[in-house]
Amino acid sequence: MRRGSSERLWLGLDLGGTAVKAGVVDDRGRVRGRSEVPTLASGGPRMVLDQMLGGAQEAVEAAGIRIGDCAGVGVGCPGPLDAARGIVHFAPNLPGWKGVPLARWISRETGLRTILENDANCAAWGEAWIGAGRRARSFVLYTLGTGVGGGIVLDGRLWRGEHGAGAELGHAPVVFTCGWKCACGLQGCLEAYAGTAALQSGLHRWAGGKPPEPREIFRQLRRGNPLARKSVDLAIATLASGVAGVVAVLDIDLVLVGGGIAGAGKALFGPLQRAVDRRVLPVPGRRVRVRPAALGTQAGIVGAAGWARHTFETSASSRTSTTGRAPSRTASWS
Ligand SMILES: [Zn+2]
Repeated sequence: MRRGSSERLWLGLDLGGTAVKAGVVDDRGRVRGRSEVPTLASGGPRMVLDQMLGGAQEAVEAAGIRIGDCAGVGVGCPGPLDAARGIVHFAPNLPGWKGVPLARWISRETGLRTILENDANCAAWGEAWIGAGRRARSFVLYTLGTGVGGGIVLDGRLWRGEHGAGAELGHAPVVFTCGWKCACGLQGCLEAYAGTAALQSGLHRWAGGKPPEPREIFRQLRRGNPLARKSVDLAIATLASGVAGVVAVLDIDLVLVGGGIAGAGKALFGPLQRAVDRRVLPVPGRRVRVRPAALGTQAGIVGAAGWARHTFETSASSRTSTTGRAPSRTASWS
């Protein structure tokens, strides 16, 4: 990269239970090079770290640069984490991930400033930066997958909460008492009704004993399968209930929905919009719009890279060297 050029490149890493993704993203949010491999979760944190570094190398090669040409790294990771210290407290679907100082490891190996953030928060930031939320001052994002993640952007800022655990919209209770058990250990969370596992429940029989993919569930819905209808209706009703709660608290008028299930298009968004309209308090001039997220499968890497860009260019600007490199190997994680 030309020294003194205003264009910088950022490395975005997206660690998920099923895939490790890496991407080189420029200042305008364009992906210049990327890689994706299935997560070897059973190998533990060190093996997954090697995968992340290997993916980063592949992505920079695809972009025609070296890792040192990047101005910083953003890492999106599921589960509760300490973003300030770059530590993953615990990662669902990733055995052995307890108290992993992931940001420090990556910073040490790449020599780059590294920031860690919740994956759904990263996705929300990506939507705010160049996606479906770019014209909105405030919005929320639901990511519908195995888990249900959430991100909140308020007045142009990512709302991360007092303990970095904010915007867990999937674990907002939608059932008054004794609801279905959620993977988080609580009962009655939105995720227990609108996550992939909930959609799949009761549908194994016609899917040949295997849990059907969301795409297949919506195909069955079009064919009039009553079990698919029941699952999707329940997911939509609970999601609308969750949305109505968020709207009541925040008075936002844009709700984005991303993740695998969001690919269902009109079959999801039509009924969901109508259900939300029925649940939110009518306020003159307010029209709550439920819209698909725009960044799709690249939301994680674009959002993580964008979050690194935002973090290192604003709050940490005093520590930024003129070349955009890390001032020291440990950067801000000492
Ligand atoms: Zn939960």
